[in-house]
Amino acid sequence: MRFIDEYRDADAALRYSLGLKRITTRPWTIMEVCGGQTHAIVKFGIDELLPPEVTLVHGPGCPVCVTPVELIEKAIEIASIPNVLFCSFGDMLRVPGLSKDLLTVKAGGADVRIVYSPLDALKLARDNPSREVVFFAVGFETTAPANAMAVFQASRLGVKNFTLLVSHVLVPPAMEVVLSSSENRVQGFLAAGHVCAVMGYTEYEPIAQKYRVPIVVTGFEPLDILQGIYMCIRQLEEGRAEVENQYSRSVRREGNVPARKLIQEIFRVGPRKWRGIGEIPQSGLGLQEKYADYDAERRFGVAHHTAEEPTACISGLILQGIKKPPDCPEFGLRCTPEHPLGATMVSSEGACAAYYQYRRRKN
Ligand code: SF4
Repeated sequence: MRFIDEYRDADAALRYSLGLKRITTRPWTIMEVCGGQTHAIVKFGIDELLPPEVTLVHGPGCPVCVTPVELIEKAIEIASIPNVLFCSFGDMLRVPGLSKDLLTVKAGGADVRIVYSPLDALKLARDNPSREVVFFAVGFETTAPANAMAVFQASRLGVKNFTLLVSHVLVPPAMEVVLSSSENRVQGFLAAGHVCAVMGYTEYEPIAQKYRVPIVVTGFEPLDILQGIYMCIRQLEEGRAEVENQYSRSVRREGNVPARKLIQEIFRVGPRKWRGIGEIPQSGLGLQEKYADYDAERRFGVAHHTAEEPTACISGLILQGIKKPPDCPEFGLRCTPEHPLGATMVSSEGACAAYYQYRRRKN
């Protein structure tokens, strides 16, 4: 396939594998931040091409996985209100709340629909002026511009029956949580290329300096990831801690400036709870006060509702690189994609789902 095959070339992968063996002299642990990278690593066996000294651990960059149970409960409550048309990406429908998921609510008669863009939800609002249309705005910096655009358009067009249930999280504060943990073993990062395509990578430079960790902005194809790991190990071996850009075909240092401006126009930075991790200061986006009319939590009076995380699932430790999915006693037994106990087994970017799909027989 054009533009894909060249990033999956087996001979080039072998050359990177041999190059890594040549430059690696001692043990190193690297975290790939993004769940999309985790899936590529497990699917293509990239970790099996590395020297035994190099360990990859999986990071918190799966938006569905880090959405707290509290938000799922709010989504369920709002979706259950008569006259609400609740829109979401498909993955979110199967993330367990305390006693049920959105799919169960839909099966019980609520109007819950899968959409592929927040702008589709906005169209539904315009087509159904007597209904309250809510979009579950989950994601990292990558999805923030489209969600911001939906609010911007709704405001411009005077659409009053459209709101967002916002659960946006930001990558850099989560990296700092990982690095600050007493259990941290991460010595270098592969940063998520698509996040940096929006935000650029200037935010990562103080983190690299403060914690003395190399950070390599990396893409998602096998050769991207191998090259990112190679650049990271080369820095570690040379005693450098810089931000480098492997994904230069998509990422510029300043990111996508119009998209960043739109995010700033619509959203403000504030504290946010992460599933399995807890509240992280300045790690999320909420609507700016002047767009408060588009905030579903306010419109439906659920802003102050709280819920405790269930304890059986150790995904919080997996998302911080402290454990791997096969370390979970429930993995593949009580917890499967058909009967998930945690979001990391549901999402197409979840580490538990990746190990279940590609590694079950080996572990
Ligand atoms: S296997 Fe299931 S219970 Fe265990 S960490 Fe993963 S999602 Fe949670």
